[in-house]
Amino acid sequence: MQFLFTLRQRGVTNARVLTAMETIDRAPFVRGTFSERSYDDTPLPIACGQTISQPSVVGLMSQALEIEPRHKVLEVGTGSGYQAAILSQLCRRVYTVDRHASLVREARAIFEAMDLTNITAITADGSFGLPDQAPFDRILVTAAAEDPPGPLLAQLAVGGIMVLPVGQSDMVQSLIRVRRTDAGFDYEELLPVRFVPLLEGLGQD
Ligand code: SAH
Repeated sequence: MQFLFTLRQRGVTNARVLTAMETIDRAPFVRGTFSERSYDDTPLPIACGQTISQPSVVGLMSQALEIEPRHKVLEVGTGSGYQAAILSQLCRRVYTVDRHASLVREARAIFEAMDLTNITAITADGSFGLPDQAPFDRILVTAAAEDPPGPLLAQLAVGGIMVLPVGQSDMVQSLIRVRRTDAGFDYEELLPVRFVPLLEGLGQD
């Protein structure tokens, strides 16, 4: 299928990630006027002025996380819910948070329809993480901050990995990988990306 071929060509080579992306249909998460472009490797607009990420970037971020089946994963920035659905195929439990209650509601409805029972979607300012569920084995942030938020670093398990875009919102950002070791945090730059900004507080809808 063209979709998987393009993913491979753009560097998504991890077998578990490719299987997850073959299993989870992107179309229900796109909806509306752009649905005929669901299988294009491009970001698309969704409600609340947000975007569903480009499939190859979803694949590259998922593989950069080096997720294992027993892991508990936090995603900040539910958006359409597509990335969370991919993560749900790779680990034991996904917590996903968004500052827009309406996006969380719509994503939850799709998770239910697809019978993805290991995802918990919560309306919250994800910059603060989810202290009650911490620590997390893996954290993925899908909105850009200027620096990794302190509470997220604190909620990363020792041995854990966080992947996030850093940089100013109107510029090309860097996707970085943070590994927490006994001694501290190791940072690695992965690829240039463009994400919507990580904003403070809750959205209006
Ligand atoms: N992962 C999504 C795409 C995310 S777009 C997908 O697969 O479709 C970025 C999302 O981050 C937006 O929905 C936006 O509302 C959310 N966001 C921005 N700042 C946030 C914050 N502080 N806490 C939680 N969500 C935030």
